[in-house]
Amino acid sequence: MARLAGTVWEPRVLAVPAVDRVYTLGCATDRRRYAGRLSSAAPRLPTGSLPSRHMPPAAVKVCVIHVGGTIGMTLTESGHFAPQPGFLGEYLRGLTELRSPELPEFEFVELPPLLDSADLGPQDWLRIAEAIIERYDEYAGFVVVHGTDTMAYSASALSFLLDGLSKPVVLTGAQLSVVHPRSDGREHLLTSLIVAGSLDIPEVSICFGRRVLRGNRAQKVHNQDFVAFDSGNLEPLASVGARIVQNRRTIRPPGSGRLRPINLPRDPKVVSLRLFPGLGAELLEHLLEPTPDGLVLETYGVGNAPVRDGAFLAVLERAIFERQLVVVNCSQCHGGFVQPETYATGAALARVGVRSGADMTPEAALTKLYCLLAKYDDIEHVSRLVGEDLAGELTIS
Ligand code: ASP
Repeated sequence: MARLAGTVWEPRVLAVPAVDRVYTLGCATDRRRYAGRLSSAAPRLPTGSLPSRHMPPAAVKVCVIHVGGTIGMTLTESGHFAPQPGFLGEYLRGLTELRSPELPEFEFVELPPLLDSADLGPQDWLRIAEAIIERYDEYAGFVVVHGTDTMAYSASALSFLLDGLSKPVVLTGAQLSVVHPRSDGREHLLTSLIVAGSLDIPEVSICFGRRVLRGNRAQKVHNQDFVAFDSGNLEPLASVGARIVQNRRTIRPPGSGRLRPINLPRDPKVVSLRLFPGLGAELLEHLLEPTPDGLVLETYGVGNAPVRDGAFLAVLERAIFERQLVVVNCSQCHGGFVQPETYATGAALARVGVRSGADMTPEAALTKLYCLLAKYDDIEHVSRLVGEDLAGELTIS
């Protein structure tokens, strides 16, 4: 597979393809493939073929998996945006930029049902991971087109589910649907194709707002700005300008390349709870009833919680020791890490068995807990793995 050898991807000055030439993209819905055409008068090329002079011919083919999200939404009769099956595939078929030799060949797969990412859950993470695993050997990389609301969760989950990953899996989406003339989606799709097909970033990433971030380090930080994601504790894997510059220091080495089918015997209940002033022991007890299997406690500052009367801690301690709840301490802050030993309010949490989440995002911690608890029933083992770096999600200090 041809990959960028250095750190910088340079645009090339290329002859503009003749405008009357139209290419046909391979398109698949639920794995029933069909060849879409831009217009009935268009000359037809083999399914999925776009000329690629940047790479050795036929060396690089990317799979674009459409899951949903604003990028491919249209306005419904009720005046709201909702995903529309077939729309994004059709849009891509009309995108003349895709004929550029700078871009890799690709195939488009729509994963039904297309969803607003607010509707996604753990079973959908598994669905996306399985779609990638099934096709893993056929492609040089993957682009997952996804809503922004829960993209950081899906990216994190995929990083844990795709154990052994040695190819790029790039999640992208947009703040504005491609129906808008000012949509950020077009650029995101084109750049993601380049990242998946030509760059050497063999991990799950998010390509958005001119940056490529590690998926399990990213958080959605804005719902209007085109820079919607940030990574408080890790530099971008690449920055996207006229040139795409990879950050070799942060990119993880490739995994074994052998992805196994997912085998998760359990469907654990994992919850996330953001502390707020006034959350007392009584309410906490209520919220932990019935007791889930895992809890991400989003604490203040460097990992602090209310300890004033001891009752709050006692509730946590009972849940941990009597009901086997695995609790991970993650800071509410976008950057920095949990240091439970700094304050008495943090040290007390560690004393009752709350695991430090170090510099993990709550999104990474929640999906990590889910994947671990789904796989193992040995709570000790899960607790140990929570503190280990499994997919670049935390820094071991
Ligand atoms: N609600 C949308 C989603 O997450 C928002 C977006 O894609 O930007 O699917």
